[in-house]
Amino acid sequence: MIRLKTERQINQMREAGKVVARALQLVRRLARPGVTTAELNRAVEEFYASVGAEPLFKGVRSGPGKPPFPAVICASVNEQVVHGIPGPYVLREGDILSVDTGCRLDGWCADAAVTLPIGKISPADRKLIEVTEATLDLAIRELGRCRHWSQVARKMENFVRRHGFSVVEQFVGHGIGRQMHEEPQVPNFVSPALRRNDFRLSPGLVLAIEPMVNAGTPDVRLTEDHWTVVTADGSRSAHFEHTVAITEQGPVVLTSLDGVEATTGS
Ligand code: MG
Repeated sequence: MIRLKTERQINQMREAGKVVARALQLVRRLARPGVTTAELNRAVEEFYASVGAEPLFKGVRSGPGKPPFPAVICASVNEQVVHGIPGPYVLREGDILSVDTGCRLDGWCADAAVTLPIGKISPADRKLIEVTEATLDLAIRELGRCRHWSQVARKMENFVRRHGFSVVEQFVGHGIGRQMHEEPQVPNFVSPALRRNDFRLSPGLVLAIEPMVNAGTPDVRLTEDHWTVVTADGSRSAHFEHTVAITEQGPVVLTSLDGVEATTGS
């Protein structure tokens, strides 16, 4: 069942969203060659504690007997798609780093991600990042124009393909509210499953929209740490996410800073 939110609840989610936006802004400032992904995680963990926000990722289990996720951010470098575990890896010039994080503030959740260039990156990686972010921007715009999610997903998928990249299909966005993962599933492509489970874009709907785009094929695989997902062909991957509410006045990005859209470090 999809739980629509009242205007008041959306305003509360906006407060959680601002905290997530500030966490990503902090990462954007710190992420440079020579810094470890563990240091970025520590900075966000301290920031969440300082504002009384509960990190949503730490302790999450992907299944019975699987190790809990040990950090408050996912840090996925280069061919890592999502769910990279922060650690001793030292960022290098030319890396691209996807950072995903979420928190709960006063009972309401928000979730967002960005892919950042580390120092000077290649034109091909720059294009991958720009197309992925533009895919999210397109989805947010189309939320106010389309009646059903499948129409938005179709436009996202076509946009990515037109630029010669591919949409990851094994992971999808999600509804969000009191819990990080609520119904509905929010795929970035059209499938028979989406046609069966398509949903109306009604005011009160709050979605975490998160295109994951590969430079090569869409195929991904899970690595031995049970969390980190990488591209099957070793090509690079980018990921952008916002928590977005549909209101009577149109779509509102909840995970942006005050009046300033969260963008890449460029
Ligand atoms: Mg998410």
